[in-house]
Amino acid sequence: MVIAGILKEKGGTILSVRPHAPIADVVQMLATKRIGAVLVVSADGALEGILSERDVVRSLAENGAGTLDRTAADLMTSSVTTATPQTTVAAAMELMTAGRFRHVPIFEDGRLVGLVSIGDVVKAKIADAEQEVDSLRAYVVGG
Ligand code: AMP
Repeated sequence: MVIAGILKEKGGTILSVRPHAPIADVVQMLATKRIGAVLVVSADGALEGILSERDVVRSLAENGAGTLDRTAADLMTSSVTTATPQTTVAAAMELMTAGRFRHVPIFEDGRLVGLVSIGDVVKAKIADAEQEVDSLRAYVVGG
């Protein structure tokens, strides 16, 4: 089971903001779109970083309400771990566990093609396990 299957089902919609976007706007986007992270992308489409709700919470703890006047570039993580559509779901889970993050941008031939979250990965794992149970059950009943 590879990431391509997840992207096929959920589509390749990528929610992103520019590096200079105010955190107040990013917070609005996270809330209205009901997502946990956005990609920070420059005008030419290059991935500059990732910014998650955790970054906002950390900054609120450190800087208080002034956080809302900062920019995406101020709070984002710029060293981003990525994967490809051919990465296995198990390998993506390992990346997330080892790096302690819940989002992985997906690149194909140098182009950003999607973003998978831990929720997408767990959903795919459960569907796979259920399918395996169904085929084992069919095999046993059939036999
Ligand atoms: P998350 O668990 O995804 O909400 O993110 C937790 C922390 O890891 C935040 O500081 C994020 O900016 C950072 N982060 C999220 N995804 C990635 C990623 N793929 N590569 C590197 N850092 C990430």
